[in-house]
Amino acid sequence: MKSCLVVDDSKVIRKVARHILETLDFVVREAGDGREALDSCLASPPDVILLDWNMPVMSGLDFLRALKGSELPERPKVVFCTTENGMAYIRAAIEAGADEYVMKPFDRETLQSKLQIVGLA
Ligand SMILES: [Mg+2]
Repeated sequence: MKSCLVVDDSKVIRKVARHILETLDFVVREAGDGREALDSCLASPPDVILLDWNMPVMSGLDFLRALKGSELPERPKVVFCTTENGMAYIRAAIEAGADEYVMKPFDRETLQSKLQIVGLA
């Protein structure tokens, strides 16, 4: 089974994403900020990361930079989550290593199509 790490400071969003991902046959792990996500990746890298931008402790962007600088043999795919008024961040996220982005709030079809684009659904 493929694994996904859902990184978001909102418990509600993590729950929604987990539900969708489980219907797509992913094993799901959660992290509430970039620091937790980094620890989780270093301990056991997932196939794909669904990444929020605004989070306490370590933001999505700082997480991407830290991930890039880490010594993981294989970098997980990263789908970056943004809102309509966060469109300006997409370029920065892609430059920092994100593979795709998805607009919040997302539904099952949208998330599945983004996962297909990165080769994972
Ligand atoms: Mg957030």
